[in-house]
Amino acid sequence: MKPKVIVIGGGPAGMMAAGQAANNGAEVILLEKMPALGRKLLLTGNGRCNFTNNRDIDEFYEYYGKNGQFLRNVFARFSNRDLIDFFKSQGVDTTIGENGNIFPDTGRSKDIFNCLLDFIQEQKVQILTNWPAKSVTIENNIVVDVVTNTEVFKCNSAIIATGGCSYPKTGSTGDGYKIINAIGHAVVPVRPGLVPLTGEELVIRKLHGISLPKVKVRLYIKDTMLAEHWGAMLFTNFGFSGPVILDLSCLVRPEHKDENIRLYIDLMPDYTKNEIDRAFLKCIHEHGRMNIVNILSSFLPLRIASFIIELCSISASMTGSEVSRGMRSKIIDKLGNIEFKVRGVRPLEEAMITIGGVALSEINPKTMASKLIKNLYLCGEIIDIAGVSGGYNLQAAFSTGYVAGESAAMTVRA
Ligand SMILES: Cc1cc2nc3c(=O)[nH]c(=O)nc-3n(C[C@H](O)[C@H](O)[C@H](O)COP(=O)(O)OP(=O)(O)OC[C@H]3O[C@@H](n4cnc5c(N)ncnc54)[C@H](O)[C@@H]3O)c2cc1C
Repeated sequence: MKPKVIVIGGGPAGMMAAGQAANNGAEVILLEKMPALGRKLLLTGNGRCNFTNNRDIDEFYEYYGKNGQFLRNVFARFSNRDLIDFFKSQGVDTTIGENGNIFPDTGRSKDIFNCLLDFIQEQKVQILTNWPAKSVTIENNIVVDVVTNTEVFKCNSAIIATGGCSYPKTGSTGDGYKIINAIGHAVVPVRPGLVPLTGEELVIRKLHGISLPKVKVRLYIKDTMLAEHWGAMLFTNFGFSGPVILDLSCLVRPEHKDENIRLYIDLMPDYTKNEIDRAFLKCIHEHGRMNIVNILSSFLPLRIASFIIELCSISASMTGSEVSRGMRSKIIDKLGNIEFKVRGVRPLEEAMITIGGVALSEINPKTMASKLIKNLYLCGEIIDIAGVSGGYNLQAAFSTGYVAGESAAMTVRA
């Protein structure tokens, strides 16, 4: 008889796990609490789905911080190349964008979703939507069934792939943490990741809506620089967002809230001070009678130019020819190192990922099996793995899902 596997959660990790368990000979039921599978997957990459990265897989680990090494075995089993080949074999070619980010060449996350759906349907996975799992029953340290509101599903093994608790409207409401806590697993406290940062009202009022395609941003907490990133950012109606900010946000913890968090932004990181000064001088010579804000706005959005002049305590009505060498150097210094205070991070509802989750020390990295309950498997964002932007989170979900599915199919209940 085929081993029976119940997968809880129909996101990318759960869909991959379900298909892979069935592909390895199991009879699989996939339980999804929402009316449809893969709600979050469809939103990814602004609807384009940046599902992995073109980097060598050996370079991936650093993009998950200190927990990255946990993924060595699963990436050895199912890497970014394997994932690309998997989608290709299902008829979806890929394209490489900036920073090696990989997308389906159609530019539609729906095509990635359809591939996964075709895969699990081909494998005859039974899909039950609008069907939330409530708990798992453990007897003698093994899962014997998965309990839902209306039915109890007996199983030989179960896979929990309920995601984190960010963007809860997609169905990821943290149910898995409760299920796993109830059976004795430790959960590392969760917090928002890849989330906008909040700023001071004065700055917001003056700069909201401005987007900067390429800046260098350094994040400081007290006197310590935590990281420096390059990329695009924007000022929003509550603070700071854009790829460079979202990546840095993963380093800001709730306990840092009152610890003098600052961003130092280099607005023209591709140019040296001398180059900027020469360009500035040229502009001043050509438009000496123009006011200084308008001159500066040849390089930057007008409102940020005006903000810098104000920060330098220079009158906005001063003409270019009135600007002294000292003032020029003050402006150029500010362009390269403008300071913004950060109040904190936006809530989990707005975060792309959840940082924290099921403690990795309680998961076998080779099989994704729980070390406490031998026929229980965990995969995807529910575990304590969090990557920066660039396709790393979906790759982790797919790779851990692949391995969990394969391993769960091998389990035969004692
Ligand atoms: C706006 C946005 C954009 C993103 N873009 C990218 C990107 O471009 N690249 C990238 O790598 N990552 C991206 N991410 C992150 C990525 O989407 C997640 O890391 C990934 O979806 C995690 O997959 P998962 O299957 O573990 O969890 P989820 O996708 O959260 O899926 C979990 C599923 O479990 C279901 N579920 C929950 N509880 C129960 C229950 N009790 N019973 C049954 N089912 C349940 C949920 O309804 C959900 O369908 C993005 C996230 C967001 C929010």
